[in-house]
Amino acid sequence: MKKIAVLGSTGSIGTQTLEIVREQGDIQIAALAAGGNIALLEAQMREFSPSLVCVWEEEKACELRQNTADLQIRIVAGMEGLLEVAVHEESEILVTAIVGMLGIRPTIAAIKAGKTIALANKETLVTAGHIIMPLARERGVSILPVDSEHSAIFQSLQGEERNTIRKLILTASGGPFRGKKRDDLKDIQVEDALKHPNWSMGRKITIDSSTFVNKGLEVMEARWLFDVKAEQIQVTVHPQSVIHSAVEYEDGAVIAQLGTPDMRLPIQYALYYPKRRNLSGKRLDLFELGSLTFERPDIETFQGLALAYEALRRGGNIPTVYNAANEKAVSLFLERKIRYLEIVEIIEACMEQINAIEHPSVEQILETEQAVYEYIMGKWA
Ligand code: NDP
Repeated sequence: MKKIAVLGSTGSIGTQTLEIVREQGDIQIAALAAGGNIALLEAQMREFSPSLVCVWEEEKACELRQNTADLQIRIVAGMEGLLEVAVHEESEILVTAIVGMLGIRPTIAAIKAGKTIALANKETLVTAGHIIMPLARERGVSILPVDSEHSAIFQSLQGEERNTIRKLILTASGGPFRGKKRDDLKDIQVEDALKHPNWSMGRKITIDSSTFVNKGLEVMEARWLFDVKAEQIQVTVHPQSVIHSAVEYEDGAVIAQLGTPDMRLPIQYALYYPKRRNLSGKRLDLFELGSLTFERPDIETFQGLALAYEALRRGGNIPTVYNAANEKAVSLFLERKIRYLEIVEIIEACMEQINAIEHPSVEQILETEQAVYEYIMGKWA
């Protein structure tokens, strides 16, 4: 029986991972970690019987220990706890489904412990791809993408030689504001930005999809996962979200993966790779679809995408600046402390103001994150 550990089990990707585990019935949950939703975590403990659970805050961990005193499950807390979950001796695969740079240290620890990584937490690769990918290669560890676009590319690469890739075509739905201009976006409210046309996801990534910053982060993630240059990654707006992404090869062949928008497919593919399993749910019906459309991204309006390419080109700690500035700006927007268009203005200002470091260590990445937060809190909060 395959054994896995899940970081972020109470979130959108985490709960869908557990849905697959429930449906397939032949994966055992070795360990789980979550932030603060201890009610859901308790239900997961009772259903899946992991041997280790981590809650971020010690206080909540105490509460959970009291509520689950009848279970034989060890409960740990904080970063030390996350690291324990990441390297849990029974688990073979670590699903990284937490949000933000918090994922860096557990991912590195899991690679060092020889665990296969099913990677949803793109921020880890965006900020520390230059550390994580060489380490994974050195340790012979697979990093299997969970992000639907990257999974589509990964599926389109099966059986092919990597050195024959001409370009990656990363599709984007265009989000809820496709077709709008900057002027139309001035008064966007939190509720408007949280309405994604095709995908149901966590709050932060839904806002990121609306600003195109998510696509920017995905461009950086793809650069590291598939070892290509920024110029080889083309973003194409495809509102139906049916072609999840594609690879163009030397000979002009374009191989793509298609399907209904359902995150369970890429999650399941990562859990069982290279095998395919039955998956319940709606199937793609091309007759029902009728047509598929494509557009160039509007980078005048959605400048977050252009800034991502700039961050990738500048390299070093600038992708960290981009990511950290976005994380803080999105949380300020969700708290209604800044306006919608300020999210990307803040990213741009931070990319100008924060000191560049060429080959940042993990400590320097985390220091950069802190410097960005302090700069933003001093100016905008
Ligand atoms: P959610 O916000 O839905 O879930 C985040 C998870 O992380 C929750 O379980 C949350 O716990 C947990 N968490 C937050 N803070 C901590 C902490 N300090 N310690 C431990 N756990 C913590 O996010 P998503 O599932 O949407 O996204 C997860 C990652 O996957 C992101 O990196 C995102 O970019 C990526 N991704 C998501 C996709 C999607 O469809 N949702 C698609 C592709 C990639 P709690 O709720 O208990 O606080």
